[in-house]
Amino acid sequence: MKTPTLVPLDNGENSSNTKQQPPSVLNLADEIKTLLRNIGTDELCPSNVESPASALWRNNKGEANEGEVLYVGYDDDNDLYLKVEDGCGGDVSIWESYGDLCDKTLAAVRDLVVERMGERSCSECGRPVFEGYVVWDGAEYYCSDECLHKHYTSEQWKEMTTGPAGREEEGNSHCYWTDWWNA
Ligand SMILES: [Zn+2]
Repeated sequence: MKTPTLVPLDNGENSSNTKQQPPSVLNLADEIKTLLRNIGTDELCPSNVESPASALWRNNKGEANEGEVLYVGYDDDNDLYLKVEDGCGGDVSIWESYGDLCDKTLAAVRDLVVERMGERSCSECGRPVFEGYVVWDGAEYYCSDECLHKHYTSEQWKEMTTGPAGREEEGNSHCYWTDWWNA
């Protein structure tokens, strides 16, 4: 069963897009954190695309450097950070609370997160899938046991994921569980 979404009733009117909110009131950092929470993670690799986001960071001499954004996440204090390539094979973290994150970078990261959310969705509930079940090479995806078992019983799934005779426990490359956090 789908989790019911609580939407305030608006006198029967369709409430989407009827409120006029200029885009400038959107806090990009909050928007990204909300997206990550909806995905069910506190960190995501957003760079699985042809044009990754880049961000500026300053070294301890105050010199600005530009690097590719490797991860976006938030910590226990709800502080958004980007892990940025440091050009030496490592990464540096830049933080919302330090004022390190400019809107241009945040908008680019937000777009990448949204793009990744569209990569694949649960065939049952429609949620973006970042970890879950691949059925027949991606003909179907399921985000959870609950959604999988609406279509296949545990017995059926066991048969579907069985490997060749004698190596049953190895499984196969057509039906399996995986994740795409760093894909
Ligand atoms: Zn689902």
